[in-house]
Amino acid sequence: MSSNQFGLRPASATVASCKICEGPSELYGVVDLHRPCEIPGGVRPPLSGVPVYYRRCAACGFLFTDAFDDWSEDQFKTHIYNDGYHVFDPEYQTVRPNGNASFVANLWAGHKASMRVLDFGGGNDVFCTALRASGFSEAVTYDPMVPEHACRPEGKFDLVTCFETLEHLHDPVAGIAAIVDCVAEPGAVFYSTLTQPADFDRYGVSWWYVGPRNGHISIFTKQALALAWARHGFKTAALNEGTHLAFRTLPESWGLAL
Ligand SMILES: [Zn+2]
Repeated sequence: MSSNQFGLRPASATVASCKICEGPSELYGVVDLHRPCEIPGGVRPPLSGVPVYYRRCAACGFLFTDAFDDWSEDQFKTHIYNDGYHVFDPEYQTVRPNGNASFVANLWAGHKASMRVLDFGGGNDVFCTALRASGFSEAVTYDPMVPEHACRPEGKFDLVTCFETLEHLHDPVAGIAAIVDCVAEPGAVFYSTLTQPADFDRYGVSWWYVGPRNGHISIFTKQALALAWARHGFKTAALNEGTHLAFRTLPESWGLAL
């Protein structure tokens, strides 16, 4: 198999612009198209023989590939978000959404009766089902990649959640703009994506979170996240290395000081 047969954009040694800040981004490392984040059951999947080159921005540290920039949604569904996907992301179907729902239900327990929540890129409706069951007045799933949830719900939402999604976007600036478009003012986005560790250069693209088979094609630094949200006047605060809250103005009633 060659890159051409998959319709991937060929790598070029020419310096490109960072997708977040337009800083100079040279080729940085290369991994196999089938490389997963974690090896399921200890059985390494066969290599595809198709290289995926990543670039890293010298200014903000954002790690990205342009290999998939010409892919249609159908190509993503055929080669990545296919029937085999859940093998490489076993927590995707229930474990992660239920865990996230408990966390959100706890954090916003005092406000749930009046909150509109939108889960962006949620895949299935497990997260929102759990929120509705725990008393949230409205919780709806929106995921352009999943036919049942591909219709953008009307209006703005007090809280937009977005778990393990930003790292999948080949156009993260457009993706964040689409998320921002759903957020009420005041309101917030509670999201997760793992940011690069301080010693990222020691690992390079061998860092476990870099995995084309999982669709992990945009790997942020804290600085890259801050710059991406700042385009919309949003601040982003890290609650830990993987969980963040982005907002212009937080509802006063939430009583969160960030
Ligand atoms: Zn950059």
